[in-house]
Amino acid sequence: MRIDILTLFPDMCRAVFQESITGRAIEKGILQINAINIRDYTLDKHNRVDDTPYGGGTGMLMQAQPIYDCFQALCNELGCRPHLIYMSPQGSVLTQQKAVELSKLPNLCILCGHYEGVDERVLEAIVDEEISIGDYVLTGGELPALVLADSIARMIDGVLANEDAYTLESHFNSLLEYPQYTKPAVWNNREVPAVLLSGHHANIEQWRREQSLLRTFQRRPDMLNGAQLSQKEEQFIKMLALQEKKGNVSTENT
Ligand code: SAH
Repeated sequence: MRIDILTLFPDMCRAVFQESITGRAIEKGILQINAINIRDYTLDKHNRVDDTPYGGGTGMLMQAQPIYDCFQALCNELGCRPHLIYMSPQGSVLTQQKAVELSKLPNLCILCGHYEGVDERVLEAIVDEEISIGDYVLTGGELPALVLADSIARMIDGVLANEDAYTLESHFNSLLEYPQYTKPAVWNNREVPAVLLSGHHANIEQWRREQSLLRTFQRRPDMLNGAQLSQKEEQFIKMLALQEKKGNVSTENT
């Protein structure tokens, strides 16, 4: 998959995706991520890419021309028009499901705004979709674009070690992941739950599933509506709800 990020701060993007898991995926040739400098496409003789908003108000807005020309140059280079996402606090909030969906595309382009934002006309002209990473406002779209690219990258075949690495994880099945432990078995007088040391795979699976349900119930009950639960699991949740009513759901790991 190829992801192109249109930005005024390409070095900020490169510094992140060249590291760790995405860095290795790029080396293996599974993933290509480019950061393209929008400023390279300005026709302004002083290299400007922003100006004050019509109607007044604070701050600067990114102008339409450099963004439009930057995107057109990319379309020409690719020989096709990639799906274009504008990172925006006004977009729909990113979900795991969205990351999975986007990971199936061969090409993706992400536009980062900066300052007060972007001239609305270029958004109308070229953007397919607006995505937000949460209900707060950042100074630029670079961090959101990296969050989006990272969430997509780890869903591409071959980027993580195997499918289990993400299918059991928080949000993939509308459940939060169970707690995990590594060596040593006792740390600061805290023991790893005994079942995990038992070597009994069926019991471990059952414990993990219960922990997953318990955590989701305690921390994100809203997610349970989207989860596929067996009848027995539905009953387990009902029992937790009853216990909670009586005021005694334990927040400790059982
Ligand atoms: N004036 C705009 C905010 C501009 S913030 C408004 O009120 O809607 C500057 C840029 O940061 C935006 O163009 C966008 O690309 C990025 N950005 C800020 N917060 C974001 C968020 N929560 N999700 C995605 N992008 C965001």
